[in-house]
Amino acid sequence: MAIIEVSNLKKSYGNLDVLKKITFDVNKNDVVAVIGPSGSGKSTMLRSLVHLEQVDAGSINIAGDYLVKDGIYPKGPEIKQITAKMGMVFQHFNLFPHLTVQENLMIAPKLVKKESAADLEMRSSELLNKIGLKDRAKAYPANLSGGQKQRVAIARALMMRPEILLFDEPTSALDPELTGEVLQVMKDLAEEHMTMIVVTHEMGFAKEVANRVIFMDNGEIIESGHPTQLFTNPKFDRTKAFLNRSL
Ligand code: ADP
Ligand code: MG
Repeated sequence: MAIIEVSNLKKSYGNLDVLKKITFDVNKNDVVAVIGPSGSGKSTMLRSLVHLEQVDAGSINIAGDYLVKDGIYPKGPEIKQITAKMGMVFQHFNLFPHLTVQENLMIAPKLVKKESAADLEMRSSELLNKIGLKDRAKAYPANLSGGQKQRVAIARALMMRPEILLFDEPTSALDPELTGEVLQVMKDLAEEHMTMIVVTHEMGFAKEVANRVIFMDNGEIIESGHPTQLFTNPKFDRTKAFLNRSL
């Protein structure tokens, strides 16, 4: 059953068409890897799902509710309720520098969900334990490695209990030796059946963890399929050319 249905999304900046009729579904428990050259619209597509970008046309349905239908957004508080089903992890972590690791985890649910401090402390401690950073609860982001920061950013997203996690190049800002620890946390989440869309250049991760790969180029989905099919037997020359450059 589809938890995300995207149809005919279009977005332009002036006369630059960044998204051209983007259509795809994501099923519950899917791990979808989105690959493609820089500038192909991957971030714009992902950001549109959480309303960090507004599209010009098309529809996005999240778990049965329309975030946008035929280019029209609802006026009321629905948008926030719909996007709250998703958590997003960015390339550049976006942690609050003046808050400790544990405070970074607790701040959003404290403000938005009004959960008790005791509950939030317990859950954030559990999550820090899970990502292997229990002993850094009182540290500030500036004193963490990039890999640690990104693991904290993932835990922070999980604090909101999202049904879907979106990742925009989560390891692209990291030194190569730190990507593994972040990919491992993502792999663990996949094994726990978290529904995930991951924009990534990590072809190994896409092959090993994703159950579907979407290849975007120039604002379009060129093809999508199971990683084994897409990586070993791509249908289109543009996919082949990209994979030859990336693998
Ligand atoms: P990707 O994530 O695949 O690298 P993006 O979605 O970031 O691609 O960008 C797609 C295209 O849209 C690029 O050509 C980029 O320069 C352009 N673009 C993105 N954001 C803006 C913006 N705010 N204003 C103008 N052009 C933009
Ligand atoms: Mg991008």
